[in-house]
Amino acid sequence: MSLPTIFVSHGAPDLPLRPSLAREFLLGLGQQLEKPTAILVVSAHWNTAAPLISAATSPPTIYDFTGFPAELYRLTYPAPGAPQLAQRVNSLLTAAGFDSEVVPNRGLDHGAWNPLLLIYPDADIPVTQLSIQPHQDAAYHLRLGQAIAPLRDEGVLILASGSTTHNLWELGRQADELAPPAWVSDFVEWLTAKVLAGDTDALVNYRQLAPAAERNHPSPEHLLPMFVALGASGVGTKGSQLHASYTYDVLSMAAFSFPALV
Ligand code: ZN
Repeated sequence: MSLPTIFVSHGAPDLPLRPSLAREFLLGLGQQLEKPTAILVVSAHWNTAAPLISAATSPPTIYDFTGFPAELYRLTYPAPGAPQLAQRVNSLLTAAGFDSEVVPNRGLDHGAWNPLLLIYPDADIPVTQLSIQPHQDAAYHLRLGQAIAPLRDEGVLILASGSTTHNLWELGRQADELAPPAWVSDFVEWLTAKVLAGDTDALVNYRQLAPAAERNHPSPEHLLPMFVALGASGVGTKGSQLHASYTYDVLSMAAFSFPALV
């Protein structure tokens, strides 16, 4: 049976510690999914010129953020690595014409370990990461996902981690997790409708078509992982929204499954 692919919004790096609706959702997500044999994370926080996959056998937890409570820097995610999966991903990408490469020791950035710590707290499933190429567009990342689609039939969970909206210049401290400004909610509603409708063409052209796209994504890297998840489930796949809430006023914590979780 093919596993669905998942896109989660990881919000701020204090996600594992700070009580929130999104944290509660992620704590329950693992039980909603068939347990995978391995996990491939596509994180907004590993940006490279060409696709890289980590073959680390014990990937270290990377603290790629500053200014958060000391407690956060003591958290670790000691899951085993997945070097064989890394080689498999590289073979699939190479066969599809990507100039990909396996690197030996890259660990887990917070885009990976923050949600994993909540979804699979036992850290007993082998995990590796695939980088994104933020200078490339959504269509490129859709193709990247299409190339690794066979993994879904091999027990591998493709977990894309970014943010449904990501304007760090307009962060606020509003406690309300359900009432963002209209320019944020309009974008999320547009995106969610296209995900549910399976309108891949519209999604790929979101920067031209979606309301306030540039304002919600001044740079594209936090949405690009979603296109890898979508591509791996196939063009036209209808997704479902697994979660919707907001943090820091303007960050959507929405999560999606491709195809829809039944
Ligand atoms: Zn991030």
